[in-house]
Amino acid sequence: MLTLEDIHTYYGNLHALQGISLSVNEGEIVCLLGANGAGKTTTLMSICAINRVKKGKISYLGRDITKMATDRIVKTGISHVPEGRRIFRELTIHENLMMGAFTRKDKKGVQKDLKRMYDHFPVLYDRRQQYGGTLSGGEQQILAIARGLMLRPKLMLFDEPSLGLAPKIIAQVFDIIKEINQSGTAVLLVEQNANAALKLAHRGYVMESGKIVLEDSSYNLLHNEQVKKAYLGAE
Ligand code: ATP
Repeated sequence: MLTLEDIHTYYGNLHALQGISLSVNEGEIVCLLGANGAGKTTTLMSICAINRVKKGKISYLGRDITKMATDRIVKTGISHVPEGRRIFRELTIHENLMMGAFTRKDKKGVQKDLKRMYDHFPVLYDRRQQYGGTLSGGEQQILAIARGLMLRPKLMLFDEPSLGLAPKIIAQVFDIIKEINQSGTAVLLVEQNANAALKLAHRGYVMESGKIVLEDSSYNLLHNEQVKKAYLGAE
């Protein structure tokens, strides 16, 4: 479904991605692990063309999207739930959700999906006229995910969805990602919480200093001594 081949991305002179190759197949949850600064966020931003790729190729559903603009990439059905939620604090929850459907023209479909979001996440319905900034961190994450779903995406990119959330809320967020995947959306998940991410994902990649250093099934990564030592702590 999504293939990155030998991707190189820079920030000025900093060679942040040094030949990243990875893939996500239909129906999969794939996680991307690695220490701070490894290049996980840059990988997601490169897929969405928020960061421009200098070398390499990104294909999605058989199309070369390497040089496509971000808004066109969004229209192809790739939704990005960014690190730190990035909800619109001064827009209402309703308006935040509608922003997720900004590129869609099927008004009836959008209304149907809005209802679906409110049915599924009652906390958003109850507070739909309040400003996004009034929500708690966990509620903001739910709003960011629901906003991403309003695109009716085929592929969702999640950047650190558990960051800064209480354990109970993290479990809820991971359940939501599982459900999204079970309803047919492929997922590329960047997570510091390696243990939880590997339990959810089918496959995973480990990044270090702008390179992929390991790729395997989640099961094998969970039992890999190197991964255990570096990312799974005592568990
Ligand atoms: P984290 O978990 O801390 O977000 P990460 O694996 O997502 O880490 P990136 O944020 O992709 O890593 O960063 C990769 C490298 O690029 C790091 O060396 C980082 O300092 C650098 N970098 C990231 N964003 C910028 C930027 N806007 N300008 C300059 N350098 C950047």
